[in-house]
Amino acid sequence: MKISKMPKLTPSGLRINQARLSETIHETCKWGSAHRWGEGPNDTGMARLTLTDDDAKVRRWFADEVRKLGCSLSIDQMGNMFARQSGRLRSNAPMIAMGSHLDTQPRGGRYDGILGVTSALEVLRTMRENDFQTNYDVGIVNWTNEEGARFPKSMCSSGVWAGGIPIQAAWDLRDIQDERVSLRSELERHGYLGDIPCSHEAYPLGAHFELHIEQGPILPETSRSIGVVTGAQGYRWLTFTVTGQDAHTGTTPFSARRDPLLAASKMIVASNEVAKRHGALASTGILKLPENSSTNTVASEVAFTLDIRHPKDDVVHAVEKECLQTFQRISSEDGKGVRLEWTMDTDSPATQFHPDCIQSIKTAANGLLGEEGWMEITSGAGHDSVYTSRHCPTAMIFVPCRDGVSHHPTEYCTPEDCALGTQALLESVVDYDQRLFNKG
Ligand SMILES: [Zn+2]
Repeated sequence: MKISKMPKLTPSGLRINQARLSETIHETCKWGSAHRWGEGPNDTGMARLTLTDDDAKVRRWFADEVRKLGCSLSIDQMGNMFARQSGRLRSNAPMIAMGSHLDTQPRGGRYDGILGVTSALEVLRTMRENDFQTNYDVGIVNWTNEEGARFPKSMCSSGVWAGGIPIQAAWDLRDIQDERVSLRSELERHGYLGDIPCSHEAYPLGAHFELHIEQGPILPETSRSIGVVTGAQGYRWLTFTVTGQDAHTGTTPFSARRDPLLAASKMIVASNEVAKRHGALASTGILKLPENSSTNTVASEVAFTLDIRHPKDDVVHAVEKECLQTFQRISSEDGKGVRLEWTMDTDSPATQFHPDCIQSIKTAANGLLGEEGWMEITSGAGHDSVYTSRHCPTAMIFVPCRDGVSHHPTEYCTPEDCALGTQALLESVVDYDQRLFNKG
C-alpha cells in the first residue's frame, strides 16, 4: 500500500497549498515548454536551456515572486540567484537555503530542478501567509547551468561556488551549438552577471536542502513517497584505447590476428561481471571505431568509455582495479594480442550528506508519513547539493517520478507527491532552524 496522503496534522502546524504549488510549477513551464506528448494543457516536456531567453524570463518571474514575499535578492557572478527572508532573530548567520535549478535538458521534463525551486517558493509563501517566522534567515537558491546541456559542465555554478570549478573556466564554456557564444557573454546579455563573487566565502550558506525527483525506480517499486537522501554515489570515468592491426578477414587466421574490437567487447562484458559481483555499476556509453572500418577488415583501433559507480569509494576503486587486471589479461588472450592504454577522465568521490540535515528530514518524513512511508536512499545522479555539501550541512529529499523516467518530456510526478515532498521540505527547514536555535 502506498502512503501518499498528507496527514490532518502536520508537525509544524503549517500546511503547504497543493493547488497553488501545481499551478506554479506549470506556470513556470510556459517559458520553454516543448515536445508535446498528450492532450492535456500540461502534457509537454521542457526545453529551457540555461541562459536562453526563456531561462531569462523565468528568472525575472522568480525575482518578482520572491520580492513580493519581502525577500532580498542577491545575484553572484555566475548568475546564481539567492533569495533571502529574514528570520525572527535578525541574525547575521548564513541563511538556511532550499536550492535547485530552473534550467532543463533540451528534451527535459517539468520536474527535474523545477520542483526544487517552486517547492521552495511554496514553503516561503506558506510561512508568509501564516505570519510564521523562522529563527534564522531562510531562503532559496536558483543555481545556474546545473544541467550542463548548453554549456557542457554539469552542476557548473554550484561547482564554482564550492571552489571545485575555476570561474574563468566556467565563464569560457561555449554554447555547444554556437562557438561564438560563451556562458559569460550570455550572463552579460541577460543582466545576470551579478556583483557578488561566486564563492562560499562571499555568500556562505548555513545549510542546503534540495527537493528533487528520484529519477530512478526505487521509490515507485517500494511504494514509498519520500526518499531521505543520505549521499551520492562516487564515480570514476575512464577511457580505454585498444590497439591492434588491420587485417584481411578472409586470409588472416585467428591465431595471427590482433583484433581490438573482439578484445574490447570481451572487456565490456567482463566489466559488467566485475561490477555485478561488487554490487556496483559499470557502463560503456561510447564505443569508437575508425571512420574507415569495413566488413572484411579487422579494425585497427577501438576506444571505449567506462563509468564505474557505487556509494562507497573503496568499492569504486576495487571495481576499477579488478577491471584493469581483467582487461590486461584479455588483451593477451586472443591471437597475437592487443595493446591496452587508458586514461582517467573524471574522479568524483562519494558524497555523504550531513547527519543534522538527514536527521531533520527523517523527523519530517516520520511526522508526515510514519516509518513505513519513507526510506533512506543514495542518489545515483549528481546534484548541486553534492557541491554545497563541501561547505555547508546538506541533504536531499527525493519524491517518486513515474516509471523512474527523467530527462525526458514525459517525466511526471503526481501533484500529491509534489505536495508531500514540499511539506517535507518545509518541515525539515523548520526542524533544522529550531535545532539550531536550541543549540544556541
Ligand atoms: Zn536536477
